[in-house]
Amino acid sequence: MSSSTWFKRIKQGILTSTKEKKNVPDGLWFKCPTCKKTSTINELKGNLWLCPSCNHHNRIDAAEYFEIIFDDGEHELLFEEIISKDHLGFVDLKPYKKRLEEARKTTGLKDALTVGVGPVNGKNL
Ligand SMILES: [Zn+2]
Repeated sequence: MSSSTWFKRIKQGILTSTKEKKNVPDGLWFKCPTCKKTSTINELKGNLWLCPSCNHHNRIDAAEYFEIIFDDGEHELLFEEIISKDHLGFVDLKPYKKRLEEARKTTGLKDALTVGVGPVNGKNL
């Protein structure tokens, strides 16, 4: 599953905002695709993005992974100035350059790869 598919799934209601779901406390809710049980995003995050009911492993992005792997989430992003380019001028159903622009707009990311550095278990690598 590509990251854009995941993004669409979020928009389609696996993560539902409080506004859309009446009579629930603040925050977002998560419906597990495996056991179909609902939990809050805070519960899910506290369980390292595993479903609290069945341990279903949810996909997470680099930002969430960095929060987990680095001590207190402390990290510095590297190579942020590097972005993908269309050196070949490739075109299929639409120009690759346009695909890149759309992907950046949809994800808010500059590239498919995110690199970070920070302390892990008290060690700066
Ligand atoms: Zn589950």
